[in-house]
Amino acid sequence: MGNADYEQLLRGASLRVTRPRVAVLGAVTEHAHADTETILGAVRERLPDVSHQAVYDSLAALSAAGIVRRIQPSGSVARYETRVGDNHHHVVCRSCGRISDVDCAVGHAPCLTASDDNGFVVDEAEIIYWGTCPQCQAAQLEN
Ligand SMILES: [Zn+2]
Ligand SMILES: [Zn+2]
Repeated sequence: MGNADYEQLLRGASLRVTRPRVAVLGAVTEHAHADTETILGAVRERLPDVSHQAVYDSLAALSAAGIVRRIQPSGSVARYETRVGDNHHHVVCRSCGRISDVDCAVGHAPCLTASDDNGFVVDEAEIIYWGTCPQCQAAQLEN
C-alpha cells in the first residue's frame, strides 16, 4: 500500500483527498489496532506539523466513511484498523491489552444467530473474546 492506494481509497469513499487523511490512512494500515496517540506519532513521522485536531478529524471522517473501523473494548481507549467489512472479531488480553484479529466464526456476516432478534434485521455481530495472550501466559509461568 502506498499513497496512491490511500488516495484511491479516499476517492472511492467520496472523501476529499487531504494530506492528513492520506497520512492517517497509512498510519492505521501499518499499525493495526493502534490507539489515537500511536496513530498521531506515526502520522507525525510523515507530516511533522500535523495538528492533533487534524488527526482526530481524519480518523472520524475515515471511520464514518467505513474505510477505517473503530473498535473500543471495554476498559480500553478507541483503536483503529483498516481491515473493514469482513465482520472479523477481536481477542483482547486482560493483562496487557494486546489485540488480535479472529476471523468471523462462520464466514459471513452476521456470523452468530441471535437467540431472539426481537424483530430486528441483524447485519453484524460484534464479538470480543477476552483472555491471556501468549506473552502474558509465559510471563505468568515464570513467576
Ligand atoms: Zn498480554
Ligand atoms: Zn481487527
